[in-house]
Amino acid sequence: MLHSRHMTRPEMPTNARAAAIEALERAVGAAHVLHAPEDLIVYEYDATIDRALPDAVVFPATAEEVAAVVRAANAHDLPVVPRGSGTGLSGGAVPVKGGVVVVLTRMNRIVEVDAANRIAVVEPGVINLALQETLAPLGLTWAPDPSSQRICTIGGNVANNSGGPHTLAHGSTVNHVLGLEVVLADGRIVHLGGRVADAPGVDLRGLVVGSEGTLGIVTQATLRLVPTPRAVRTMLAIFDTIDAACEAVSAIIRGGVIPVALEMLDQEIIRAVEPRIHAGFPLDAGAVLLIEIEGLAEAVAVEAEAVIEACRASGAREVRSADTQSERDRLWEGRKSGIGAIGAVTPAFYILDGVVPRTLLPVVMRRILARSAEYGFRCANIFHAGDGNLHPNILFDPQESGAIQRVLDLGGEIMRICVDAGGSITGEHGIGLEKRSYMEWIFTPADLAAMADVRSAFDDAGRFNPCKVLPGGHGCATGHADEVARHLATPGVYI
Ligand SMILES: Cc1cc2nc3c(=O)[nH]c(=O)nc-3n(C[C@H](O)[C@H](O)[C@H](O)COP(=O)(O)OP(=O)(O)OC[C@H]3O[C@@H](n4cnc5c(N)ncnc54)[C@H](O)[C@@H]3O)c2cc1C
Repeated sequence: MLHSRHMTRPEMPTNARAAAIEALERAVGAAHVLHAPEDLIVYEYDATIDRALPDAVVFPATAEEVAAVVRAANAHDLPVVPRGSGTGLSGGAVPVKGGVVVVLTRMNRIVEVDAANRIAVVEPGVINLALQETLAPLGLTWAPDPSSQRICTIGGNVANNSGGPHTLAHGSTVNHVLGLEVVLADGRIVHLGGRVADAPGVDLRGLVVGSEGTLGIVTQATLRLVPTPRAVRTMLAIFDTIDAACEAVSAIIRGGVIPVALEMLDQEIIRAVEPRIHAGFPLDAGAVLLIEIEGLAEAVAVEAEAVIEACRASGAREVRSADTQSERDRLWEGRKSGIGAIGAVTPAFYILDGVVPRTLLPVVMRRILARSAEYGFRCANIFHAGDGNLHPNILFDPQESGAIQRVLDLGGEIMRICVDAGGSITGEHGIGLEKRSYMEWIFTPADLAAMADVRSAFDDAGRFNPCKVLPGGHGCATGHADEVARHLATPGVYI
């Protein structure tokens, strides 16, 4: 999405490399190890900026093979970086210090669906949408539905504690994982949590969810399923300004209705997506809200009226209801294609992910748009408005001299705006490589030290996904986050 930036590191001596590759081939079979330069470049990036080459890429088929890979990596002192589909938006799967990228996509079996107990047991490489398609005929769903669900894996969802449009009512991934099978940094295979809620003892399951591959490699997940709703109402509220749409978000929730989804698309996004998808978003709208309510039919009807009222009171020019499943699908197609469509209207763009208190959405959006204009960039916004989870996309041309640095500076300022508004530096995309130095904006040194202690308890040698999540780290080059963090060192001035 953003013009790439390579990270360099010392080359491994040829003999050591050959011995390590031999050990990996013993662990998973030679057919499942890549080490030729032309193969490795495919695994040097995820969906954001930084790039770094691994020494080898392996494709294990079982937890035992993952454990054997980890033991081989330990024996040869190589970092280990788990990877699903590589759709992450914070550099989480980028092998900054080289080593072994462990791709989990061969482990893609849905092991069990226990419809009566509303549980699914899956391997980490199962694609989110494939699981949803298996569950739909049973009247069940797995609530986390990232917009990347056509391609992202359950392992990636678990590692990033991913969200999605329906997180507003259902909560993010951590609320929908009952148990995990995990390969630890010493090669042990452990089982955390279980098949019932509230497993006794320390909640290591909760700790691993969202740990971005730094505490262990997930090799199986037991998921809590929810029934598909009896009735659903999907509405499109059309506004002349972003401000009015932002006001409506708070008004809806203040009125006592929590929609399952409350998504905003601004004019830049509408103009990118509508000519391609024909979802029915008016090209002259300042912003639209896509609102979904679900439950029993009677309750849905009453709540829909309350939503329409709140939107009108906030200045909606029109509120449309999708009457058929195909109209509903069309609206969602428009929403879920939004980020992809930006690529058609700009040479490059940089996606940000921040959270602010919902009530401050209008003021924060005004500030972000004003700063973007001052930098001379267009900023397109498509986001989970009900959660206050913003995704400003900065549109730019990487050929323009100095553009990348200015994009990064603006990105840092936007993160600072979110923090100063009482929000946070990520709502769902994770910290990864990209935002680790911003952690100092929201956590004290003692908080960060406690997190580092947990990490050491799991992985004393720091081999699992080094240079991710926490600032600093031995041999971790400072990234753009550090530069921006220094640039914006004065807190409290950005909003
Ligand atoms: C167009 C687009 C839309 C998106 N929309 C959303 C959205 O709505 N909500 C949202 O939350 N995210 C969204 N994302 C971000 C991304 O899709 C999610 O973070 C997703 O969960 C990543 O899954 P993946 O399989 O691609 O993981 P990867 O990118 O391969 O890895 C992500 C992280 O998880 C770790 N990891 C992967 N598998 C494992 C495993 N088995 N065990 C341990 N660690 C592992 C990696 O090391 C890395 O740190 C979007 C991305 C794109 C490109």
